[in-house]
Amino acid sequence: MIKVENVTKSFGKLEVLRGISTTVERGEVVAIIGPSGSGKSTFLRCLNLLEVPTGGTIVVDGVELTDPKTDITRIRQRIGMVFQHFHLFPHLTVMDNLIFAPTRVKGIAKAEARDKGMKLLERVGLADKADVYPSKLSGGQKQRVAIARCLMMDPDVVLFDEPTSALDPEMVKEVLAVIRDLAHSGLTMLIVTHEMKFAREAADTIYFLDGGVLLERSSPEAFFAKPQTERAARFLEQVL
Ligand code: ADP
Ligand code: MG
Repeated sequence: MIKVENVTKSFGKLEVLRGISTTVERGEVVAIIGPSGSGKSTFLRCLNLLEVPTGGTIVVDGVELTDPKTDITRIRQRIGMVFQHFHLFPHLTVMDNLIFAPTRVKGIAKAEARDKGMKLLERVGLADKADVYPSKLSGGQKQRVAIARCLMMDPDVVLFDEPTSALDPEMVKEVLAVIRDLAHSGLTMLIVTHEMKFAREAADTIYFLDGGVLLERSSPEAFFAKPQTERAARFLEQVL
């Protein structure tokens, strides 16, 4: 599904990604962990061209993202992103948040988009919130709306950047439950997270990033039982 080859990214003189190579299979769930500033967000953002890599190639489902001729808008429809701070439109109701992109970008009829929106709101447990404004929702509810909104576009891949980091502890569970449900549904997902228990249970593969290098790529069982590098071992000691 995704092939990343020797991707680098620099901001001026700062080298943030230093040659990342990996492949992600269709339906694979990847948890990306690592210290703050290690390049996790930048890597994720490169995968839907919110950042343009300085070097290397990224191919998603046969389309080369790093080819300047690639249509970014089309790519973004296929690769959804969920952010730490939700990014809902505050002036639109939950339902209008959901149908905004499908009706404007994809040209889907409003009634059809609403039907789909209701199904997705049911799926994330918020069917009763369709006509509410985001300001009336808890953080956990906002994030579940953001996830539903992302799914409205039928993405092939969903990228999550610390989806629970801005939430009060009691709301983390409800959001992780929704993400776990998606993981079981066969969606290809990459999730930057600090929730080690979740990473261990929900991911097929763990990526450990440090200093812009993909230092480890292994199964959760192997990684959490015995990381291969001193850096990862020290990181785990600090967070577990
Ligand atoms: P992480 O998500 O692992 O915490 P980031 O990918 O956000 O790490 O950031 C990696 C490094 O790149 C940090 O040193 C950060 O300050 C820097 N960085 C990220 N985005 C930019 C940017 N737009 N301009 C300059 N530096 C940036
Ligand atoms: Mg980050």
